[in-house]
Amino acid sequence: MGDNTLLSVFCSPLRYVQGAGAMRRLGAEMVAVGLEGPALVIAGATPIARLAPIWAAALDEVGIAHRVRLFGGESSRREIAAIVEEARSLGARTIVAAGGGKVLDAARSAAAALRLPFVSCPTICSTDAPTSALSVIYADTGPQRGSVEVYEIHRRSPDLVLVDTQVIAESPPRFLAAGIGDAMSTWYEGRAAAAAGRPNMRGGRATLAAVDLARLCRDTVLADGEAALDECRAGRAGASLERVAEAATLLSGLGFESAGLAAAHAVHNGLTAIAATHHALHGEKVAFGTLVHLLLEALSATDAVVREATLAEAKHVAAFFVRVGLPVTLDALGVGAEGVESLATAVRRIAARATEPGETIHNMPFPVDVDSVAVAIEAADAVGRAAVRAGAVG
Ligand SMILES: [Zn+2]
Repeated sequence: MGDNTLLSVFCSPLRYVQGAGAMRRLGAEMVAVGLEGPALVIAGATPIARLAPIWAAALDEVGIAHRVRLFGGESSRREIAAIVEEARSLGARTIVAAGGGKVLDAARSAAAALRLPFVSCPTICSTDAPTSALSVIYADTGPQRGSVEVYEIHRRSPDLVLVDTQVIAESPPRFLAAGIGDAMSTWYEGRAAAAAGRPNMRGGRATLAAVDLARLCRDTVLADGEAALDECRAGRAGASLERVAEAATLLSGLGFESAGLAAAHAVHNGLTAIAATHHALHGEKVAFGTLVHLLLEALSATDAVVREATLAEAKHVAAFFVRVGLPVTLDALGVGAEGVESLATAVRRIAARATEPGETIHNMPFPVDVDSVAVAIEAADAVGRAAVRAGAVG
């Protein structure tokens, strides 16, 4: 199933800047990569309340005029069109976004439509979207409201990614835990897609760099995840939080984009078909998807030693997810909570959505179908429930 004609492709932002107080350097860092005003800054209400005075000072200092626009809340076609409209009326020459995955995705899509440079300032570490050229677009009307509509892949990576770790340290720890979940999937998905010889998210073969960065990402969050969460609860950007912020943002972003996605993110998309999971964050659903990914690998292994090793790895990952407070069961994600369908029917619906044509689950190095994914989801749920019981005892 590999494609021998693929060239190796690695993409990254032009400049990545991280540290406590980094937002005060926004203007200077924009100038460092040649960006100009006026800048349209898109952000949610919380970042605006905390950061608007800092943006004003940082941008005034370098003579970049700016306007702040309140984000509408969903990365949807309608919101993107509204950002494009406002950027045109301002005569914006740079789009800056500050916030979580959705505001960054919507603003990035608007910047791409206008062919403007894009500055990505994640204020929470909940996903690896900030460094990428991808936008996830969600439906915001009709029965599919809140479900993933499409992945857009833009030509340009962000011109600047700026992560103020003091802002991250002051954000709710639940977001950082979600980012750890998203980061954990990167190695397993990149490893699978590379083994299958499937193209990465930018249409090329995975480089050694991308696969190794994905592995470093997993190793870093495993080693420092719990300590980083402790620092976050204390509101302190310590050494562990710095390492985990880099893993969840830079390493995971470069890894997923240039190594590739596979089953974990497709299962995330499958979960969005169940309305009761919409309370769960992207990284929380990806964490469960990572367990399903590992179970698919274990159940498809023809060699008993490989199967046992992969199952042991799934249990190890599930125990870690329990320690950092990530959901590892269908129940914790809300699947079956609606009571309008049986759990088995809900699982089949998730599996059907996850295996739609074009989904990244088809990057696994073996064929998958609705049946095999449904079995893996139930098996992952069983591993997750055992991990929760062990966590409660231990
Ligand atoms: Zn993700």
